Amino acid sequence: MKLKIALVFSLASFFLSLIVFLTLSALFPSWDLSFWSGLLIFLVLEMLILSGVFDPKSPLFGSVFWRGSKKYPVLALTFDDGPSEPYTSEILEILRKYQIPATFFVLGKKIELYPQAIKKIAAAGQEIGNHGYSHQLLPLKSPGKVVKEIRRTEELVFSATGQRPRLFRAPHGFKSPWLVRAVRKAGYRPVAWTCGVWDTDRPGEKTIIQRSLKGFQNGAILLFHDGRGLEAKPDCSQLVKALPAIIEEALGQGYKFMTVSELMAVGRDTIKKVDAVTN
Ligand SMILES: [Zn+2]
Repeated sequence: MKLKIALVFSLASFFLSLIVFLTLSALFPSWDLSFWSGLLIFLVLEMLILSGVFDPKSPLFGSVFWRGSKKYPVLALTFDDGPSEPYTSEILEILRKYQIPATFFVLGKKIELYPQAIKKIAAAGQEIGNHGYSHQLLPLKSPGKVVKEIRRTEELVFSATGQRPRLFRAPHGFKSPWLVRAVRKAGYRPVAWTCGVWDTDRPGEKTIIQRSLKGFQNGAILLFHDGRGLEAKPDCSQLVKALPAIIEEALGQGYKFMTVSELMAVGRDTIKKVDAVTN
C-alpha cells in the first residue's frame, strides 16, 4: 500500500513538473531549458511532495502539531492503536501510580473489541484522541472518506464516554494535500509526534528505554503503542515493562508530563498554565 501511495504521488509529481517545465519554456524561451533541467524540476518536486506525504512533521500540506514549546521541560506520552487489553489497563495503572497525564489515540475498531477499556481511559481522566476507525492509510482516500473514518470513531468514543475527541493522528502520520484541511474542517487538530519509539517492533525492553531517552527534549511528544494496527491480540508487554523506567528517568531529569492538548496550550504561550502544571 505504501508503494502504491508513493507511485501515485510520484506520477502526480511528474505531471506537475511537466506543467512547470512547459510553462517556463513558454514564458522564457531564451532560457532554452534542457532535459536535465526538466529532470531536476521533477526530482525536487517529487522529493517535496513525498516528504509532505510520508514525513509526519512536514508542514507542506498544512501544519501538524508535532512538538510543543521548547521553553519548558515538559513531555507528552502518547499511545496509539488501542485500546487493547490487558495493556491499556496496565498502562493506565502505571500512569495512575506516577500521577502522569497522557493521550491515547484510539481506533474505532479496537473500541468495538474492548468497550470497557475506552471507559477506563476516560474514567482515569486521561486524554482521548482519534486515530480513525480502521487504521487505513489515508493519503489516497477522499476528504469524505477521511471524515467518515474520524466520525465513526468519534461516535464510538462519545457513546462510551460522553466525550468527543478533538485531536486526530493519521495512521503512520501519512498525509495528502487535502487531509489536513479535511481534518480541520471536521473540527480536529492534526497531531504527529517528535520521537517515534517503534515499540511495536518489539526490540526488547532495554532498547525501548534507550530510544525513549534519546527522544527526551523540551516539548517532545513520544509515540508509544497500546495496540498494533488492528491486531486483536497484540503483544505490548515490552512497553509495559519499560514504561516505569522511562517515566522515572524523565522525572529524574526534571521533566513534567502533559497531555497533547496541554502541550498545545503551552505552544500558545500561556505561561501561567505552564507554571500551574509544572509546579
Ligand atoms: Zn497507528
